[in-house]
Formats: sequence, C-alpha cells, structure tokens
Amino acid sequence: MSFKDECGIFGIYNNNSEQFTTSLLTYYGLFALQHRGQESAGIVTLERDKNKTYSYRQMGRVSKIFNENILNHLAGDIGIGHVRYSTHGASAIRNIQPLVVEFGNGPFAIAHNGNLVNSDILRKELQNEGSIFHTTVDTEVIVHLMSKGYYQDMENTIITALNKIKGAFSLVMMSSNNLIAARDPYGFRPLSLGKLGDSWVVASETSAFDLIRAEFVRDIEPGEVLFIDKNGLKSLFLEDYKKVNHAHCVFEFIYFARPDSLIFGGKSVYELRKNFGRKLAQESNVEADMVIPVPDSGVPAAIGYSQESNIPFEMGLIRNHYVGRSFIQPDQNLRDLAVKLKLNPVRELFKGKKIIVIDDSIVRGTTSRKIINMLREAGAKEIHLRISSPPVLGSCYYGIDTPAQDELIANVFDANTTEIKDKLGADSLEYLSLNGLNEVIGTDHKYCLACFNKKYPVSPKGIERSPQMSLFELSKEDL
Ligand code: AMP
Repeated sequence: MSFKDECGIFGIYNNNSEQFTTSLLTYYGLFALQHRGQESAGIVTLERDKNKTYSYRQMGRVSKIFNENILNHLAGDIGIGHVRYSTHGASAIRNIQPLVVEFGNGPFAIAHNGNLVNSDILRKELQNEGSIFHTTVDTEVIVHLMSKGYYQDMENTIITALNKIKGAFSLVMMSSNNLIAARDPYGFRPLSLGKLGDSWVVASETSAFDLIRAEFVRDIEPGEVLFIDKNGLKSLFLEDYKKVNHAHCVFEFIYFARPDSLIFGGKSVYELRKNFGRKLAQESNVEADMVIPVPDSGVPAAIGYSQESNIPFEMGLIRNHYVGRSFIQPDQNLRDLAVKLKLNPVRELFKGKKIIVIDDSIVRGTTSRKIINMLREAGAKEIHLRISSPPVLGSCYYGIDTPAQDELIANVFDANTTEIKDKLGADSLEYLSLNGLNEVIGTDHKYCLACFNKKYPVSPKGIERSPQMSLFELSKEDL
C-alpha cells in the first residue's frame, strides 16, 4: 500500500528558449518545489516531432540526481517533473514519478500530488480484470483506468478515468502532443498556471515560476482539466465540478507551502502566516522579554506575533540547514536526535529571561518538547509556547504526512487542559483558535480543516490505514 505522498509537480509546454532547455527549466521548477518532497525526483520530456520520451528518475534530492549530462539527454519541448516524499512502504525506485507508459497511439506520462481515497478498491477491481501493476503508487490506477476505457480521443479517456477516482489529486500529464493539468473538484492541493514567453508552465506553487521568471496566470480550477496544445488552452470539467464544496488544504498555508508562494486564489502564504501570528498574539499574549520562532516554519508567525504584541523578535534558535526535516525519520529515537541536529539555541540570549516560542504546529510533540528542554538548559526562566494553528486532532488522508491519530499528541491528551503543556514542559501553551484561523483565512474560499476538526470532506473509508488501524500506537506512558 502506498499511503502518503507529499509531492510537488511541474510541467512545461512548448519550450523554445535557446538559453534554457525543457529539462533545465523543469529541473529549476523541481528545485523550487524541493520542500514538497525530498525522497525522490524525476523528469520526463517529450520530443514532439519524434514522438519520443526521455525520462530520468532517481531516489534523492533534485540537485544530487541531475547533472548537465543527464539534463542534456532529456530532449524535447514538453516536460513534466515530480518530487516525492513518502514514508510508508513504498519508497522503491519503481514508484518514482512521473510514471511513463506507452498507449496504442503513443507515450503518456503522469505526475501526481495528493492522495486518492479509493485507489485500493479500484486497484483490486482492475487486478481482477487482468491489470498487472508495475508500482504500488495510487497514481498508477489512473493509467490503468485510462487503458481500460481507451477511446481514440485522449480528452475523453482522461476525463472518464478522472471521474472514477476520489480524493486529492493535482496532476500534470503529458501525451504525444499536449500537456494536461488537472485538479480534483475539491481543490485539496494547489496547482497554478503560468506563462513563460510562448510557453505554458504548471506548478504546485508559484515559487517555481519565480525561479524561472514565469508569470503567474491563475490557479487551475478545482475540477478543471486543462489541455494545452498547439491550438492553445482548452478547459473541460469533471462530473463533480460544481457539485461539491471546495476544500483547499489549510495546512498548506500553515506549514507545507513555501512562504514566498501564492496559492488558493493567489493568497500570499507569508502574509497569512504573519497574520496567524498576529491573531495568536491578540488571543493569548503573555508578558515576556522576547519572541523567538522555531525556524524556519515558525518565522513569519513569530514576526506577526512580535509586531502585534510589541515584544522584541529574536532569532534565538539557529537552524543547521544541512540536515533533512526531522519529521522524515520514521523511528522515534532518530527523530529525537534529529531535532538536536537541526536546532541549537543562542544561549547568551536566554539567561533569566521570559521567552515566547512560536511554532506553526504541534504534531507528535517531539519538536516542542526538545526545544523547551534546550531553552531550559540554556537558562530561560519562563517558556511560553504559542502555536499558530489549532491542535492537530485528525490524520490527513489527502496528501499531508500527518501520522496516525494515536500518535497525535492533541489526540492522546486533552488540549483544553494543562496535560499537553505539562508533557512538553512549557510554562504555558496556547494554540490559535479555530475561529481565529478562520477569521484570518477569510470566507472567500472554502477549506479542508479535517486535521483540526476531523470533518473529512471525502470519506476516508476504504483507506487501509484508518484511525483505528494505526501502524504505531502511542500510549500516554510513552511520552
Ligand atoms: P512534531 O515534532 O511531531 O510535533 O512535529 C511538529 C513540527 O514538525 C513543527 O515544527 C512543524 O513545523 C513540523 N511539521 C508539521 N507538519 C509536518 C509535516 N507534515 N511534515 C514535516 N514536518 C511537519
């Protein structure tokens, strides 16, 4: 079973730049999306005149995987790319995206960000009908659905297949003569359209456009399937388009997306994070000598908090940028060590001081607990933990890597009491309220808040790892 994929996707159509090849632009696009997945990456390009694809996919980070020689071999004027991070089971080389297949009338490639909730069921049905899967990623289901109902017409084939899948999907695809971008009707994950001279580009986040100097045009609409070919752009829509409420993932704003990106209707992630911090200060300020962020993800919120409360901002924790995210360590002992490897306090700041520590979220509580320990050891007198999002209560089934419910500290202990504060060792702990969060994000779009309120817009039933079937059960004694 492939359960989770936090991914970034990129695509470019009709690159005729003399300076930058399609593969190089895709490489830069993926480079800017590296935060969305560090486990593996791949680029597939297509030479339209020869109807020939080239692909290179490897485990590891973008800068390690590709070099000039490899990029030069990836010829063509259409390209798609993918960065992936998966924690459960399926990190084999064969699972690296984009997936590439040969249909009757030519090559097809696909890259996916998100998580399908009915892929296990569809996979079994397809296998019963004779399909042989090459990978364990849910994305392959789409390709098999396409091959089943293969119509001469590629548009119909894609729409028919996508109407059968449920859950979160932002996709870039490439067939013999076009680039296709699609987003599920809920719009869980972001996907943007950009323009670079005569070329069209598509990316999970606009930070990828900035790097290649493409101009942001608009979001791919929830439920839209956008076909880009020599005749221009053509939008078709999935069955559920307009039937369902949008459910943009609020955790993209809180943690996942880059702060320099504009997502979900061109909203600035940085501004929102700062406003979460401001709101948090309005809701639960406390007297202190300084506000310090947990870098990097807590920085914008801490700036907002400091501005609102007039308490000085200090970079009290220094991050070592040469280690990966601590969250990616599957084992609890390694995760503990990883926090220490990643962050070190500026001791001189803290002796006898009252400190407000700002982080964007508490998931298992590992990071906060270690940080509070470090700050105490550095001599801090009072440590007030402020979190710029509400308590995480529910696992995500749509593509953010939150662990099983029993591992979520706010699910094991009651966030309305002092239990969590005591476990973490803080003098006080306050989260941004759900109302406060809603106020900041506004009402012009609808969001998925399932990680905070357990209201799942698409039923996760059928997914093997349900909250009752956690892989790792955490008891109160373990903390
Ligand atoms: P934890 O230590 O388990 O409580 O995780 C919380 C820390 O991990 C915070 O500092 C967050 O910035 C970060 N974080 C939150 N969600 C994720 C995620 N899905 N992947 C990686 N890191 C995360």
